[in-house]
Amino acid sequence: PVRTRFAPSPTGYLHLGGARTALYSWAYARHFGGTFVLRIEDTDLERSTPEAVQAIIEGMEWLGLSHDEGPFYQMQRMDRYREVVAQMLEAGTAYHCYSSPEEVEAMRERMREAGEKPRYDGTWRPEPGKTLPAIPADRKPVVRFKNPLDGEVSWDDFVKGTITIGNKELDDLVIARPDGTPTYNFCVAVDDWDMEISHVLRGDDHVNNTPRQINILRAIGAPLPLYGHLPMILGADGQKMSKRKDAVNVMDYPAQGYLPEAILNYLARLGWSHGDDEVFSMEQVCAWFDGTHLSNSAAQFNIEKLNWLNNHYIKQADNERLAALAQPRMLAAGAVLEGEGAPSLPAVLALMKERVSTVNELADAAMLFFRTPQPDAALMTQHLTDAVKPALAQFAGRCKTVEWTKEALAAMIKEVLAANTLKMPQMAMPLRLIVTGQLQTPAIDAVLQIFGRDVILARLAKFL
Ligand code: GLU
Repeated sequence: PVRTRFAPSPTGYLHLGGARTALYSWAYARHFGGTFVLRIEDTDLERSTPEAVQAIIEGMEWLGLSHDEGPFYQMQRMDRYREVVAQMLEAGTAYHCYSSPEEVEAMRERMREAGEKPRYDGTWRPEPGKTLPAIPADRKPVVRFKNPLDGEVSWDDFVKGTITIGNKELDDLVIARPDGTPTYNFCVAVDDWDMEISHVLRGDDHVNNTPRQINILRAIGAPLPLYGHLPMILGADGQKMSKRKDAVNVMDYPAQGYLPEAILNYLARLGWSHGDDEVFSMEQVCAWFDGTHLSNSAAQFNIEKLNWLNNHYIKQADNERLAALAQPRMLAAGAVLEGEGAPSLPAVLALMKERVSTVNELADAAMLFFRTPQPDAALMTQHLTDAVKPALAQFAGRCKTVEWTKEALAAMIKEVLAANTLKMPQMAMPLRLIVTGQLQTPAIDAVLQIFGRDVILARLAKFL
């Protein structure tokens, strides 16, 4: 059965690259009716925090990437790691190494000087017929993995194709420190074994860890998962993404007014393709995501594309949902949403959402319906000319009885224009100023309709 995992280190927030890895692992499991496991790799005590765990879980929830098992915490699995270390010592696939850190550094230095790749020289590595040095007093050993000396490690990476590393390139890795705490690659291997992970999708910054993990998995008799290493996401400038210049924290996106479906769609497409499709739902991604068509080149973040998708999903979104999202920002900006004669926020958003990139932009645009208009006096004089005034008065009179629909209002405006031989802008502009305080608004008939008869009559009365 397919079992995938997302295994973040909780040292910050959920970043875009991590979210994409999570999405692909999740979609892969969903595609095959498998299981998606969440594992928190929190053994780096200096950098891991509970807040970061929370932030990652919150980010996953916002995206809707629900896990079936976990979260498992590596810090809660220490006994299990110690147990496997003991078994490996017993089986002879690992050994105690009493070389001091200074000695190890010295041997590395020697090798560097000799132009060799620095590695542990095997002083304490037991071999048949070899006599080991006397154990130094008062020194706690590390445990090293007995990496095969010859041969190679090879795997068919389902993003990068076949990757082969000679065992000569690999060191006898420390798997437990002098205090007995296990090290990173070892924990990952034991976890992938215990959690019966069948497919590992992760960032290609882990490619160098894979042969080490494979050797450990072999040594402990575990089946090997299949691996796929995803190239990283580059910033808009083609450089590595950084906090400083890019919005890398997933939870910055809701704050900026992005919908989760836009981020998911964007991330799905950033490193994977399904023909020429650009817009797809998560149901479709799960239906199509079978581990093929993963891109082997770094993807470049493109905010215009994301904005385009966000606009697409905003247009599709339920207006009540948009209202709930826009409301806090509008209230903070002083909007009176519940005031007497205040138009319905969902109706306003429906009218305004065609061209916005974010919900924040939408909220800002919608403000014009929830402020007392304060038209600029000079603009008012310029637009409310003597030629227009009688027409506006007629318009106001007919507003009392006209059927309050967009169509009826539009027809009535046309009649008033014709009767006064005016052109549309001559009346629409002063009307916009009077009703909203600004010259740029959606179509005037729609604006009038949304405000409602009483508000329009009251606002007109002030100027006529
Ligand atoms: N904890 C690692 C990270 O956050 C991922 C390890 C893995 O997927 O194997 O980069």
